Amino acid sequence: MLDLVLPVECGGCGTPGQRWCPVCATALRVHADEPLLVSPRLDPGVPVFALGRHAGPRRSAIVALKEHGRRDLRGPLAVALATGLHRLLCWGIVETPLTVVPAPTRRWAARRRGGDPVTLLARTATAAAPGITVAAALRTAAGVRDSVGLGVDARQRNLAGRVRLTGCPLPGGEVLLVDDIVTTGATAAESVRVLRSAGVPVVAVLTLAYA
Ligand SMILES: [Zn+2]
Repeated sequence: MLDLVLPVECGGCGTPGQRWCPVCATALRVHADEPLLVSPRLDPGVPVFALGRHAGPRRSAIVALKEHGRRDLRGPLAVALATGLHRLLCWGIVETPLTVVPAPTRRWAARRRGGDPVTLLARTATAAAPGITVAAALRTAAGVRDSVGLGVDARQRNLAGRVRLTGCPLPGGEVLLVDDIVTTGATAAESVRVLRSAGVPVVAVLTLAYA
């Protein structure tokens, strides 16, 4: 019935009639040796892991969720994030009690899009995970531009001194920074720096994709 009202297409490949097709579900699957350890240009000083390359259905799903309000894609992306998180626990990279801190989103952007997608994704991914809480502890200050199209130096300058603590309480234990995409590493590096200078024990970064 809904198809008659609203054309539905796969958020990964555009195939009509379904929101997330089996082919894209397979493409987003987190394999036994994933998440991958990646080396962004700006090293945040802790290991950075990504579920896969920012390409194909993964890229389409992230863009559709963030830019086109396809909230129905939060489910599949959260499953992938939860699997990645579980792996990091199994590998001993992180341990519980664990606090997941979403990387900061520009506030006006989050408002316009109906809530910060990374925070919502992290909450969905950890909803059933014992010993893991999500704390939206970081925000960006006014004056931060969208980083799309900026190079390494420009991204770093754009964020320098502009990542702030929200004052949201951190329950203690280790902290994992989570973001959608790691590109130059500027956001991760500045976020880790701010958390660490506040005495927060950040141990790793996990992202949905690397570019
Ligand atoms: Zn598809």
